This record gives sequence, C-alpha cells and structure tokens, in this order.
Amino acid sequence: MKRVYNFSSGPAILPLEVLKQIQEELLDFNNSGMSILEISHRSKTYDAVIKETEKDLREIMNIDSNYKILFLQGGASRQFSDIPLNLAKNGIFAYITTGQFSEKAYKEAKKYGKAYEIASSKDKDYSYIPDCSNLDIPYNADYVYICDNNTIYGSKFHTLPNTKGKPLVADVSSCFLSEEIDIENYGLVYAGAQKNAGIAGLTVVIIREDLIQDILPISVATMSHYKIQVDNESLYNTPPTFSIYVFGKVLKWIKSVGGLKEIQKRNVEKAKLLYDYLDKSKLFIPLIRKDSRSMMNVTFKTTSDELDTLFCMEAKKEGLVDLKGHRSVGGIRASIYNAMPIEGVKKLVEFMKKFEDSVDEDKLIK
Ligand SMILES: *Cc1c(COP(=O)(O)O)cnc(C)c1O
Repeated sequence: MKRVYNFSSGPAILPLEVLKQIQEELLDFNNSGMSILEISHRSKTYDAVIKETEKDLREIMNIDSNYKILFLQGGASRQFSDIPLNLAKNGIFAYITTGQFSEKAYKEAKKYGKAYEIASSKDKDYSYIPDCSNLDIPYNADYVYICDNNTIYGSKFHTLPNTKGKPLVADVSSCFLSEEIDIENYGLVYAGAQKNAGIAGLTVVIIREDLIQDILPISVATMSHYKIQVDNESLYNTPPTFSIYVFGKVLKWIKSVGGLKEIQKRNVEKAKLLYDYLDKSKLFIPLIRKDSRSMMNVTFKTTSDELDTLFCMEAKKEGLVDLKGHRSVGGIRASIYNAMPIEGVKKLVEFMKKFEDSVDEDKLIK
C-alpha cells in the first residue's frame, strides 16, 4: 500500500486509523451481519450510531443542551440560503465578506431580505481579515455572518467580530474541530464535513435553541426548516448515514489523541513550521497578512507562475500531492487539516528548501 501526503482542501485527508476501522468493519457492522452501508436509518443499530456521534460532538466541543445539533445534507452551500430563511425575524442581515464563500452567502441572503456588507477585505484580494471591533451594524439585524476560516484564500478570524449583541453566524467548514472554541460566542455554526471532519454528504449545524423558529416570514421547503429537522432529530427523512458514521469515527479519533486541546497544539505546531519557513524564504511568498493567517489552509506563491506549476509537479513526484492553489487564486495551497501528520509538513518544508536551492539566483527575492 502506498499512501501519499494529501494536501487537498477537500474532500481531504482522513486519519489512517479511521480509514482502517471503516475497512475492518465494512462487511459486518457490530455483529449485525450487515454493512453500515446496508442498515436502515430507523434501526436500533443505526440509532446508536447517530446518538453516540452527537454525544461525542457535545463532549468534544463542550456543547450544552441549549444548542441543537443537526446532521444535514446539501453541503455547506445549502446553508447559504437556509440560514437567512430560518433566522429571519426582521429580514435584515449583516455580512462580513472575506472570500468567495462569504460572498456567495451574502449574495444568497440578498434574495430573502435586506443584506448589508458591513465589512470586507475585497480591496486587497481578501488577503487579510478586517478590523471588526466597531462595525456599523444595522440596529435591527437578525445576525452577523462570517466565514471563520477562508479555505480558498487561507485567512482566519483570530478575533471574533464585536456583533453588538446580535447572534454571530459562522461558516466553520474548514476549521471545524481544529481548535478549542467557546460555542457560547455563536448563535449558529455550521460545517461541511469533508474538509476537516469526515467525508462529503454531511453538513453539521449547531444552533442556539432560541434562534429556532416555528413559523418563518418566508415559507421554506420542509427539508430546509431547522425546526422540522430539530423535532425529528435529523431523521425527518434518510440522513447521510455513512457520512455520519465516518464523522463519528473521526470524533472517536479526536478523543483518542486527547481532544481539541491536543489537536490545537498539533495544528499550531504544524502551521508554525510552514509559516516560519515562508517568512524567511527567498523564493516562496505567503499570501496572507501575518495577523490573519489560517492554521488549516496555508497559501503562498513563488516568484513566477511557471515556478508555481513546476513546484507542484515536482512535489507530486515526492508524494506531496494536491498543492495547487484554488483555480481563482493560483499559486500554491497546502491544506494541513487535523489528519495531516507533522511528518507530512516536515517533508513539505524540506522539499521546499530543496526546491528553493535549485532555483537560479536571479529568480529569488533580493
Ligand atoms: C468547501 C466550503 C464550502 C462549500 O462546501 P460544499 O459542501 O461544497 O457546499 C463553504 N464554506 C467553506 C468555508 C468551505 O471551505
């Protein structure tokens, strides 16, 4: 078996232990004589899986019962519309746009009410997180929206916005379970599982109870109504059974290594290795301002597009794959999610040094 170091932004690397466990029990789950892929979502066996997954998530993230947890389909993008539809009271929404995913969410919200862009980093190609300590927030805004970690650009909110009492809604798709957070700071957080927490098909929504509304100003599809999903414990219809099962395995893995405290420690260490090198390199240039950098998606470039391409090609030969930047940004992106071992990052940095040494002097930064 040959495994590479996979730097894909998502679907992305999973812990090897998790993959092995899935393989081991794929044909016979818990002595049922059936695969998890074949079991009814209404069965006792499956009920135990989904219940335990929720329990583990609550334990790992320290989530109290005043927050509800939903296991939904439709990807993170589905939430771009479901959030304004479900959270609307006055139909006034405040958006901070720091990249493509928050732009998309903002655009979607405009369809269902009055959405305001209260801050943005568009002016500098989304290379930083704006100061959000004293923003002009409409007094009747239903919520303030952010994309916490910008997967494409490689930036991250290190200080949450001052929402002046409004609920904070955060797309945490690419930083979900990467560090300790205080859920009480948020009204709603959601994540597509395929970045840092599992596989495609599952979106986890964590929502404070008081934001869930029975009657909505604009009626929505039944499947999109949080209240229906909460009342049915994510089993209104067939949930993404296998994706939830994999998510459960990832949660067990997080617990086994020491929880979010240990995960965060590892992530800090991995990101530091890479950024420290980037900051002193004469070939590689980090794309994000120092105070706004992501621990999960590290973006950079060399002094030319040709060298970027050559670098990714040569890296692939060394078993360092999927380093090409997002098609709209170019350059190079190393996604170093929870499951990326530090050895993978060390190997990447060593290869970068070797590559830098091989480049002609006149192509280096003076
Ligand atoms: C990938 C991603 C999305 C989109 O996720 P889908 O599940 O493909 O809809 C949204 N937000 C962030 C931050 C992402 O990284």
